[in-house]
Amino acid sequence: MRQANHKIPDEQRDRRITRLPEAAINRIAAGEVIERPASAVKELVENALDAGAGQIDIALAEGGTALIRVADDGCGIPRAELPLALERHATSKTDGADLLDIRSFGFRGEALPSIASVSRFAIASRAEAEAETAQDGAWRLAVEAGRMGEPAPCAMGQGTVVEARDLFFATPARLKFLKSTRSESQAVIDAVKRLAMAEPSVGFTLRDGERMAFQALRGEGRLDRLDRVMGRGFAADALAIEAEREDLRLTGFASLPTHHRRTAQTQHLFVNSRPVRDRLLLGAVRGAYADLMPRDRHPVLALYLEIDPQRVDVNVHPAKTEVRFREAGVVRGLVVSALKHALAEAGHRAAASNSLGALGRFQPAAAISAPGAGAAPQSWRGSYQAPRPPTPQMAEAAQRYQAPLVDGWSARAAPIEEEADLAPFDAPSPSDPPPLGVARAQLHDTYIIAQTRDGVVLVDQHAAHERLVYEKFKAALRENGAPSQTVLTPEIVELGRAAAERLLGMAEDLGRLGLLIEPFGGGAVCVRGAPAALGVVDLEKLVADLSEDLEELGEAADLTARLDAVCSSMACHGSIRAGRRLKPEEMNALLREMEATPHSGQCNHGRPTYVALGLGDLEKLFGRS
Ligand code: ADP
Ligand code: MG
Repeated sequence: MRQANHKIPDEQRDRRITRLPEAAINRIAAGEVIERPASAVKELVENALDAGAGQIDIALAEGGTALIRVADDGCGIPRAELPLALERHATSKTDGADLLDIRSFGFRGEALPSIASVSRFAIASRAEAEAETAQDGAWRLAVEAGRMGEPAPCAMGQGTVVEARDLFFATPARLKFLKSTRSESQAVIDAVKRLAMAEPSVGFTLRDGERMAFQALRGEGRLDRLDRVMGRGFAADALAIEAEREDLRLTGFASLPTHHRRTAQTQHLFVNSRPVRDRLLLGAVRGAYADLMPRDRHPVLALYLEIDPQRVDVNVHPAKTEVRFREAGVVRGLVVSALKHALAEAGHRAAASNSLGALGRFQPAAAISAPGAGAAPQSWRGSYQAPRPPTPQMAEAAQRYQAPLVDGWSARAAPIEEEADLAPFDAPSPSDPPPLGVARAQLHDTYIIAQTRDGVVLVDQHAAHERLVYEKFKAALRENGAPSQTVLTPEIVELGRAAAERLLGMAEDLGRLGLLIEPFGGGAVCVRGAPAALGVVDLEKLVADLSEDLEELGEAADLTARLDAVCSSMACHGSIRAGRRLKPEEMNALLREMEATPHSGQCNHGRPTYVALGLGDLEKLFGRS
């Protein structure tokens, strides 16, 4: 008995434990399984795949909130079982004896009753066996206001059609959490694409209102299917992955290190055909590409793991997108070694790892004081001297040494000459050089070496310049905006509807940054002007990257965060590339600008823009002290 030592509200007093009505139970369960139209579509398509469908046709209205219809040509449901299909925990996919031996997408028997409880619902089906027996035929069962009717005869070929109208009409609270029609549509498209990759031999159509949002041919091969979904020439850049260990089998396709994107959203993983998001597997991918790809870029891939169902638990989450492996280490190892093997075969050896290790040796103190004692330090990060925040004195010093810059923007605007003067820099060392020193040489057209008062500075020209341009864009946003340069022939960039709308929604702010875009209809935008500071850039790639960055940020991000992402993305495009030969004045101008710019010690992706070594460090390195 509870002690009533505080006031209990009257309405609580005569509460008794009672069983919830079935409709309420279903609605509560629905909350876990059906969060938004995309989750309903996912469940229905999975049912169609479980039923052995060869063709699945999906239709949406209003992003799925007004109508979701999924039609398949699978095995169908006999009349006698139709009401059972809508009952909770009724399933044809397991007898419940061994929940670890699941070979289908479904097994909880929750999807149909959940969807039926939050929509105006109907299911029509014609079962395989009955297709031949004339007397039975097709039957339709509707649910109105949580109440199941009687199956009524209807006309259709073999298969099943499920219709859910007015999703969440009975649960307005859930309705409130839905995003715009456009983002709900997009989530459905993404979910369907994932399943289309999982089962490449099945044909799909997805109509979103009037428009065909996705279509994939029945019986196409896996690589064709992946190419269709990933786009941007994935197939041409894809390496085949194939590996086996014990009774694990990994297949699929992964992009060459040169084919990458800004987000990890195009990394798709399937465990026994089930699309999953698994941190372990994503981490393994990162590990395999670590030395081959910039840290802020991500390979594109689809990996299919076949594993004895007993060794993986899919019963972790109602939406079944999480899995738990019995031997996680073995799985991870297989993924890493299969990817590394394929990458090495492709001739892109992970040679960079050695030099990164070597850079670690530049570290003074412990690592250097015991030469030869063990391997190179594991991590090279942290081996650079922490960049000093610019002080007023630094800025002042910078001013004194500042080379004239064209329109105040950057060294980038200086004329580029193919054969830059490479004569040794013969300017005398000033007795009191500025903090980042005087440029002495450029190495591999990528790094600037500068002599400082008491050491050397090694600058990554691309990373450094990227930061400078980024800070300039941010300043332009605070002030009058950045100058724009009209492009001679406006460039039309095809992005897809959602991406185009996302960008066009920001057109005004992009305009302040100098990027002038207009709608071009369909999923395309027309680029009329580009930020002058970027010089000659690949507009298509710039715009595509911008939209990917914004997508990654998600709907929830505020304007400041979005603009930040835009600035960062544009800066990367507008920066002095690694591999561009710089003249001494350009190098010095860059150094001076770094001194005068806040945060210039790291690029926008957090990598250092320069490393500094003191004379003391050099002496230690050569055993002079
Ligand atoms: P689960 O998929 O977990 O079994 P569902 O509620 O999604 O649960 O479906 C219940 C049952 O209805 C399934 O087990 C299956 O027998 C039947 N069913 C559902 N959709 C289809 C379909 N498209 N084709 C054939 N049978 C279906
Ligand atoms: Mg199901």
